[in-house]
Formats: sequence, structure tokens, C-alpha cells
Amino acid sequence: MYRDLVEKLAQKNDSRILLAVIDGLGDISIEELGGRTPLEAAKTPEMDRLAIGGALGLHIPIARGITPGSGPAHLGLFGYDPVRYQVGRGVLAALGVGFKLQHGDLAARINFCTLDDSGVVTDRRAGRISTEKCVELVEMLTDVQIDGVETFVIPVKQHRACVVFRGNGLIDDIEDTDPGLVGHKPVPVTGSGKSYRVVREFQEKAGEILADLDPANFLLLRGFSLHKEFPSIEERYGLRAAAVALYPMYRGVAGLVGMDIIKCSPEDITGQNRAAKKALSGGHNFIFLHHKPADSAGEDGNVQAKIRAIEEFDRALPAFIDLGFDVICITGDHSTPCPMKLHSWHPVPVLIHGGPQRSGYSSEFSERQACTGALGSFLSTDILPLLLAAAGKLAKFGA
Ligand code: ZN
Repeated sequence: MYRDLVEKLAQKNDSRILLAVIDGLGDISIEELGGRTPLEAAKTPEMDRLAIGGALGLHIPIARGITPGSGPAHLGLFGYDPVRYQVGRGVLAALGVGFKLQHGDLAARINFCTLDDSGVVTDRRAGRISTEKCVELVEMLTDVQIDGVETFVIPVKQHRACVVFRGNGLIDDIEDTDPGLVGHKPVPVTGSGKSYRVVREFQEKAGEILADLDPANFLLLRGFSLHKEFPSIEERYGLRAAAVALYPMYRGVAGLVGMDIIKCSPEDITGQNRAAKKALSGGHNFIFLHHKPADSAGEDGNVQAKIRAIEEFDRALPAFIDLGFDVICITGDHSTPCPMKLHSWHPVPVLIHGGPQRSGYSSEFSERQACTGALGSFLSTDILPLLLAAAGKLAKFGA
């Protein structure tokens, strides 16, 4: 209801919006930092300046207490209710390697694995074979043909690959064949109907090809999901959006909502800046900028690396500000606290600069100040309406 209202009130103008996502930005108090977070400890003069002239708040990625993956967390930032617009793991894996999915494609993740002579799984990752080996195995599987569908097998990394089936009438109500534990046989595909037959046949034929190899002599399938096309961010909010992201998964998620994916060359933040400049001069008025290193540092539990990643982003920021945005939002997709080495449910600091704001409440960009910031705390899906409003892109409701 509320979401439909935002769509109805959205109006076009020339204002430009930058949504900069520092992946995994949020953190919790860390002892070695005297109880501060990496964002609080990092030297970030540029973001602090924007905080002084703008407004801070906290966003809740999905709902209180829910830990999100990066896919759904980004959909929330793009104004798509991540519970309503769900993207399955298989689809995310295919998007992640840049595979162009079509509406109705059935995708699943593959793990190459090791079976013993009795067909029991002894290693669910086949000794973590090299990515080169994975490419070789996938090459062998391109011969697999199944009636009624086109089959695509795509290497991912190490023991991981993914498969996409393209054909009419596919469904994704299929259980993982991965037993989840060693010492068990792969879970048989028992249902009747086209999709079950296709998956069963694929697993059998692939199994025959791999049977005599070592250590990867079989494969396990999980995360079956159908690709469904979403209404685009232009249709919903009138934005001509472009993504400048270096990692395939984020380009994939941006592509799901119809953003144009701009090639970044070189593949670093300088290239992202050039790409953003090009997109703006081509008429785009919404830029999604993704910065990955803070999340990786958080998952490694490396506090100093996370601080460095945030500082690196801060140093790159002026070149983006110089491109001429009317509204700038800096936030994370979720928290990745270093002490947890995992994504978490903790609300994420948000900074909005530009347009009329209740400024003067904050002196720096930090979790602490975000807690008492002028924007308060809100769901991630409220960010886009706040940006539209700041950019004058939302009409008044009623007389
Ligand atoms: Zn993330």
C-alpha cells in the first residue's frame, strides 16, 4: 500500500542521486579500538563533512533481528521489499557469474563432491579442487543434453559451479540433492513432472561423465530457484539508474531491477568513477556505487583492514562528489562485525546529504552518531523514498 503510494507520487526531474554502498559497513564495539567501531576509528574527513551538512540515521536491512545476505540487502536499498521480491540462491549464483538469465529459467548451485564405492558422500567439496579444475569439469559437462530444455553449466570458483535449465513450464519446488553432511548418499530427486525429470537426468548424465575421476566424481545440487523478472526501478520510481560495481553479484542484483551496468575500466574505484561520469553524461540520474573491501575485512575479522577499506573509500569520495550530485547517500547493505566474522542483523549507519535536511545534529559519520541522528531508524526500503524526496522527485500526497 505504502510502496504503491511512493510509486504513484514519484515524479521525474533532472536531480541526480548517488547511492554509495560500503558493503558490510556496520560493526559493533571492538575492544582493541577502545570500544569503538571501525567506522568510528577510521579517519574519514570527507564523510564527516557530509555528515555535518546532512543527516544521519540507521537502517534495518530486512526486519529486526534478521541477518541478510548481500542480495536481499541490496534489493532493500533499491526500494524493493526483499521479502516480497525474493531471489533464490541458484539465481543469485548465476547472476553472480554474469550469466544472462531469462524469465522462467531454473537455476541451481553445483558442488562437485567425492563419493565412495557405495555412493556415499565422503567430501562435499571434493577436496576444494582448484578453479582451473572446476573449469575443466564444467567443460566436460557441456555435452549433457536433456530433452525439452537447454542446459547451461557455468564454473564459479573451486568446487562451486551452477547450472541453468531453460525451457517452458519449469518449477523450482525441488529439494537439494546435497545431504548437507558426509556419510550420507545424495538425496534422490523423487517428484514427477518435467522439472524433476530434467534435474534427475542431469544428475545421472553428469554422474556418468564424472564417475571415473578423482577426487570430483559426482555433483550435488542445491538452491533451485526460478528467475522472475521484476518491475524496473525506472517503471517504479522514474529513475534512470546505472550501477558501477566491480563484483558480478552486485552487478547481477542491480541488473535484476533494470539498472544499466556500466563497464569499469580499470577495475578499481578510479574506473568506477569514470564509469559514473560516463553514465551521468549519458543521462542517468541515479548511480549505485558498490565498494566491497570492508565486508571482506569484516568476514576475516580483520579490524585494521576494515578501517583501511573505509578510509580508502573516504579518499575516493571527493572525485564522486565532483561529478555533481544533488543528493548523496552513503550506507552499507548490512553489518559485518569483525568480532563475528559474519553478516549480522545490526542496523546500519546511513548518511544523506543534499536537499533540505535537518542538518547540524551530527559532527561525524559513525554508528554512535547515527543512533541519535536526525533521520532516526527505519527500514532499508525507506531509503529510496527519502532520497527521492530530498531530490524533489516525490509529489505531495493530497490537497
Ligand atoms: Zn554485503
